[in-house]
Amino acid sequence: MEDCLFCKIVNKEIPSSIVYEDDEILAFKDINPAAPVHILVVTKKHLESIKNIKKEDEILIGRIFTVINNIAVEQGIADSGYRVVTNSGRDSGQEVKHLHFHIIGGKELGSKICK
Ligand code: 5GP
Ligand code: ZN
Repeated sequence: MEDCLFCKIVNKEIPSSIVYEDDEILAFKDINPAAPVHILVVTKKHLESIKNIKKEDEILIGRIFTVINNIAVEQGIADSGYRVVTNSGRDSGQEVKHLHFHIIGGKELGSKICK
């Protein structure tokens, strides 16, 4: 999709530090990490957020969690623990309107997930 930052990253028009890629999924380091490990996992297909997920996307969305698990192992945080976040819509503060899952870990995150 034109003018979508993450579509541009998916299309390699904007560089990123890629940690995983396959035909449908790309994972790259967040440019402004909130923790020692902060990776964004995106669908290559442009979906704005969870609200746009359709039945036909169920296998893809399920596979994202297998990818997340593999990345967590590779990054050495599978056992220490980590948080997976996806912001969806205005109240979540979603900045980039292309479905993505944050993998955040590598330190104690605390229990708070909102203000
Ligand atoms: P959101 O608030 O939409 O859930 O999160 C968007 C995330 O994208 C933020 O954590 C932000 O740091 C990250 N981000 C914004 N622009 C870029 C960029 O150009 N490259 C990378 N790698 N991450 C970005
Ligand atoms: Zn997009």
